[in-house]
Amino acid sequence: EYKDIATPSRTKEILKKHGFSFKKSLGQNFLTEPNILRKIAEAGDLSKEDGVIEIGPGIGALTEHLARHAGKVLAFEIDQRLIPVLEDTLSPYDNITVVNEDILKADVVAEAKKVFDEEQPIKVVANLPYYITTPIMMHLLMSPLDITTMVVMMQKEVADRMTAKPSTKAYGSLSIAVQFYMEAKLAFIVPKTAFVPQPNVDSAIIKLEKRETPIVDVIDETFFFELTRASFTQRRKTLWNNLTSHFGKDDQTKQWLEKSLEESDIDPKRRGETLSIAEFGKLSNVLITNKN
Ligand code: SAM
Repeated sequence: EYKDIATPSRTKEILKKHGFSFKKSLGQNFLTEPNILRKIAEAGDLSKEDGVIEIGPGIGALTEHLARHAGKVLAFEIDQRLIPVLEDTLSPYDNITVVNEDILKADVVAEAKKVFDEEQPIKVVANLPYYITTPIMMHLLMSPLDITTMVVMMQKEVADRMTAKPSTKAYGSLSIAVQFYMEAKLAFIVPKTAFVPQPNVDSAIIKLEKRETPIVDVIDETFFFELTRASFTQRRKTLWNNLTSHFGKDDQTKQWLEKSLEESDIDPKRRGETLSIAEFGKLSNVLITNKN
């Protein structure tokens, strides 16, 4: 057993040894509660079969927990100043690869190919930099990597949106984009006091698991996402208003929308937020079919 990186005193010691100062612009809030890190790693249900991708290892607080349970860990850290720190703190482990790149620019597929075995299940476990939570999640969800499970910490407000059910305030195009591919659940809340420096917002861990089959078979995914975004443009407005504003108010477009809504059994006077993902899928398919 090694000493945990994430105790408050050891974190302080490491930061001091390397003369490290936090960059707020990079969302650097490090976890200093070993129990929370243990719980995050546990939520990943890791085994030695698994390949794990981590975004933003910081000084390695979560990384070492992942390395203890997973087969291999691939971590992307944008801050060059943290690379020598990680070399130092993670030296007891031989199953970690740190890549000094921006996760949004890195070729994650190529890096994963280098590190993981073919057919190795890939999981994502990370305490995300909050200024780019949504872009990172979209980037990973849309990537061709076969990610089976994600356990990710983010600001509570975004976690609520990603896990929201229809007819709730938090439900929107982000909920649909995430839940289209994955089943999403709130795992637990993390208090601000678990970090240095403390963030201004509350945090939550969500767990996402890939659906065995898509929630709805969509003919054209790009169009489906366009439709969901259009339906929430003005939340207070009806579906009809949002769709005519987006697709056009000419007679031909109106006829196309009217006919398709009717065939999908969806009242045009409903608000977008009342539609389930399955209903959006159905409407999207009928619209595409009626267009031709
Ligand atoms: N994993 C550590 C922990 O839990 O204590 C640090 C988490 S901290 C919230 C976010 C980390 O992401 C920081 O180390 C930051 O430098 C890194 N980061 C920020 N933007 C990034 C990006 N675009 N690509 C990769 N890492 C990034």
